[in-house]
Parts: sequence; structure tokens; C-alpha cells
Amino acid sequence: WKNAPPTLGVLAQLARLYGERVFTIYEDERVTYDANYRAVCHLAQKLSEMGVVKGDRVALAMRNLPEWPTIFFAATSLGAIIVPLNAWWTGGELEYGLKDSGSKVLFVDAERHARLKQCYDALPDLERVVVSRCDEELGGNVSRLEVLIGTRSDWASLPDIPFPQVAVGPEDDATIFYTSGTTGNPKGALGTHRNICTNILSSGYSAGRAMLRRGEIPPAALPHKVGLLVIPLFHVTACSAALMAGIASGQTIVFMRRWDPVKAMEVIEREKVNLTGGVPTIAWQLLEHPERANHDLSSLEVISYGGAPSAPELVKRIYEEFGALPGNGWGMTETMATVTQHSGEDYLTRPTSAGQPVATADLKIMTVEGDRELPVGEVGELWARGPMIVKGYWNKPEATAETFVDGWVRTGDLAKLDEEGFLYIVDRAKDIIIRGGENIYSSEVEDVLYAFPGVMDAALIGVPHKTLGEEPVAVVHLAPGTVATEADLQDFVRERLAGFKVPVQVRFVADTLPRNANGKILKKDLRGLFVGEVAA
Ligand code: ATP
Ligand code: MG
Repeated sequence: WKNAPPTLGVLAQLARLYGERVFTIYEDERVTYDANYRAVCHLAQKLSEMGVVKGDRVALAMRNLPEWPTIFFAATSLGAIIVPLNAWWTGGELEYGLKDSGSKVLFVDAERHARLKQCYDALPDLERVVVSRCDEELGGNVSRLEVLIGTRSDWASLPDIPFPQVAVGPEDDATIFYTSGTTGNPKGALGTHRNICTNILSSGYSAGRAMLRRGEIPPAALPHKVGLLVIPLFHVTACSAALMAGIASGQTIVFMRRWDPVKAMEVIEREKVNLTGGVPTIAWQLLEHPERANHDLSSLEVISYGGAPSAPELVKRIYEEFGALPGNGWGMTETMATVTQHSGEDYLTRPTSAGQPVATADLKIMTVEGDRELPVGEVGELWARGPMIVKGYWNKPEATAETFVDGWVRTGDLAKLDEEGFLYIVDRAKDIIIRGGENIYSSEVEDVLYAFPGVMDAALIGVPHKTLGEEPVAVVHLAPGTVATEADLQDFVRERLAGFKVPVQVRFVADTLPRNANGKILKKDLRGLFVGEVAA
């Protein structure tokens, strides 16, 4: 693997290390580490025959299917840039992603093919479409993945072929992941081979490899954990923190096409899943589900998540009711991976923190103007630096220049650090509520609301006010059977926080709050509920 492109080189070593171990489970399909690697090499060859060369963009629009990582590694091993598109996007939004990235080849599942097929001709850069798991007649420039490399059960018998002969190095472009679009239009973050390898290598893989090389332990003795992947791979949270970290330690990763708490519990019981999570909502839904008592979930060892603020109560309940270790981490699309991590005792005693930076990351808190670093304990904008940070945004030189400064990424998150380096995210700069000149950090009030028994979902948003500028309003979803009034919640906040932070209104909603695919509450949608309502 010496002359292999970095991501493929790592994959090749892992295939040798874990060979016959099951890599992915999806319904009744099982793909081993070795079979996946064979399929990657064969698909890379097919892409090369299609004329894909270094720097070309290859889009990937599908749900979590076992072919997703195969396509990901096949494209990057040619030096092409893989562009995972949000599978929740509509036809028009997917078209935006294809146009913005100028993708030459598109891999889709049957569902997204149906959504997109009428616009293929209108995309000038798009030369080939490859559809997976499709029963329809295909033709022209549209072909079937299974015709190219066989079905999943064929992969194990694909013959050995040499690596693609392409000069690809660590600083070459490898990925364009789109941001979640929580605060504006999604932006494509341009990641490198170094970014991906950093993710894999920093999660324990090197230890296993070193032991094997020294002949100290047979491969079968390497720890073998089963992870359940329930969040979408087109976000870095899943791709880096679940898939890449999982690959690194030879996990068997169980895929679910879409999140469903009952199916998840069945799978956890059947496959003896040790690790799961992704976003706080998932942990909540498992905890609160009436079916939980009917399943043996005792194999669970770790439930970790990130991407959004989580309630302190969740931490305790995961520990007490699942007997599993809760974990949290902070990261963003622009960092490709987890930058801070938090688990076990540290997390139980500091449930509002997002943890400490990983060994390779640096953090600092700057004034919002960006002119001065702030001392420990003060709230300002979080800046991050390290080998996981992407180069910049695809095709957005102005946004790149604003956000990436001297090797640091300006995160747009307001946060503070404590003496021991624990990070506390307090709000997004764009979500901060300024009431008559007083700053209200929404997460501070949300943490209090979450502590009220029966509150399952809570968001604090600012609504316009003539003289004060903005006023805080809470939107709350209660667990079934909970009785609470607006005044109960307002009193609860008043007893714990300064008066100006008490929501002037509490709106109860019957459903969980609107979230995007990454589990983030869409505050911009919630604000829409109040347009023209609160004013004075
Ligand atoms: P866009 O940038 O398009 O508006 P986005 O910022 O939601 O969307 P992502 O890159 O998916 O897109 O999300 C990163 C953001 O998620 C961070 O900037 C932060 O606000 C939030 N976040 C991530 N991890 C945590 C965490 N552990 N606790 C609180 N917030 C978190
Ligand atoms: Mg962002």
C-alpha cells in the first residue's frame, strides 16, 4: 500500500487486519472488511474507465446503505472528490448540490433517482449516473451499480486487482460535505485526505495495528465492538464519528435505512449492539419509548452524541437506566470530525460541557469582533485549529476568507472554556437574544427548561419587540401525561435565573420540535410561528 492514495492505503491495511470480520450489516446483507475493500478497488477501476480523474467531483445521494462507504472510498482512491448530498433534500435542493459541486458522476439510490431523473439533462457537468437497488429499466448514461461490481453478496469473490495508479497525497482534496443549513444556505466544506486519515488514525486504529505487527496478539483477539449507525452519513457526525472511527477499530457497523426507535431496539437486541447515538434526540427517544421494557438492551456500553445542545438530565438517565456511558462531543462540518470529547465521570459531573479538545486540536475564545483573545471563563466566539479542519469552502472565496483565518476556523459558536480546558457552548452567535441590551444565551434557559420534569424538547427563540429589540419565547414539547402550565415553567425559570431571562411566553406544541437531518432544532422555522404575534 506504499504508493496508494492515503485513504485507500489506510483501508487496505484495515482490510488486511480485520479481513473476514463483518464490516456492515444491513437487514440480511453482511459485507466483510475484505469484501468491501475488493468492491472499492473494482469500483475505482470502473470509475477510471468512465473517465473520472483526479479533482473530478463524484456525488453520492443515498440513504445509509452499505454501498455508501464503498463508493466513498472508491472515488477518493482515484483522487476524485466525493460529494455526499443530503438525502433529505428535495429534487431542487439535490440539483443545487450537483450544480454547486459541478459533479461529473452521480451515485443514487432508487428513491433519489426518481426525484432527480427529470433534471439530469439540465446538468451540464453530469456525464454518468449510477443507480443502486433499482428495479426500473435504465439506459443511456444511467447504469446500475450491481452491473458494475455485482451485488453485495458477490463482493467477497471479486478478484484481487492492483491499486489505481494515481498520484494522490495527503493535502489533495477528497471530500465536499455540505453544512446543515441551520443558519443559512448549506456551504460545501472542502476536506482533504489528511482530514479523513486524521479521523481514522486518531481513533485507536494505530494501537491495534502496532500490536498485530509485533505479533503480540492474533487478529481474532482484537476487541470487536458492534456499532449501530442511526444518523445519516452525509453529515460529518456520522461519517467521521461513527463510520471512520468504527472502521478504525474494526467495528461491525449495523446500518439502518432510516431512524425508527422500535426497529433500533430490535436490532440492538438481535445484534448485541455496544455503541450507538449520534444526536441527543435519538437517546431521548430510546429512553422514553414505551416498548423499551420489552427489549434486552443490556449490550449497550456507550451512547454518545453531538451536534446539538443536550439536556443535563439525559446524561444521568443514560447512565442510570441503560447502564451505559454517555458521551458528548463538539464539531462542525468545517472541522470534519469531533474536536472536543466528553464521557464517563467527567461528563456526569459536568453535564453542560461538550468536553475537552482531542490531542491534536487547539481552541481559543475570541471577542466577536475577532480582535482579542478572551480569558478563561468569558464568553466569546470559539476558534478551533488542528489537522481535522478543512481548507475552506468549495467555490466560496469570500466566505472562506471570513471563516478561515491563519489556520483557525471561526466557528460562529459562542462559548467559554474553564480552567481545565472544558468547553461550554452557550449559543450560536446568530441565535443569541438581546433583550434591551442584555444578552440571553438560549442554551442557558433551555438547560433549565429541560430540568423541569416531563420536558422532552425545548427551544428559546427571540421574537421582535418594538422597544426592547427582542424578547425570549419558549417553545416546549411535554412527554405524554405531563401536566404543566405556562406559569409553572416561567416560575421554574424565575427561581433559577435572572428575571430578564424568563420567557415572556411559553408555547406548548404537540409534536417534537422541527429538526433537520442532523438533529438540530430549526429555530428559523420556529421564529416563523411568531411572526407578527409578539409586539408592544
Ligand atoms: P450552517 O452552518 O449551514 O448554518 P450548521 O452549523 O448547523 O449549519 P453543522 O456543521 O452540521 O452545520 O453543525 C455544526 C454546529 O452544530 C456547531 O457550529 C454548533 O453550533 C452545533 N454543535 C455541534 N456540536 C455541538 C454540541 N456538542 N453542543 C452544542 N452544539 C453543538
Ligand atoms: Mg455552521
